[in-house]
Amino acid sequence: MKYLVLFAVLALAYALWRQQRRTPPPVQQSRPPSAPAAPQDMVACAHCGVHLPRDEAITLDTRHYCCAEHQQRDAR
Ligand SMILES: [Zn+2]
Repeated sequence: MKYLVLFAVLALAYALWRQQRRTPPPVQQSRPPSAPAAPQDMVACAHCGVHLPRDEAITLDTRHYCCAEHQQRDAR
């Protein structure tokens, strides 16, 4: 009978512990999952006319190129 009471107390403590753990954690301040990217400046390749972001283009004076090959071909 003594063990039954002990078991009941342990079970009650375990149930209370589980109940406390089950409470949802505070909502974390998280950034929105997919914020739209900032609009990029687009430039056209002076050789083939393809449009690409300015920071990916090869800029020579005021002309932009999509790749080094087009920059060299246009320089000739
Ligand atoms: Zn090009």
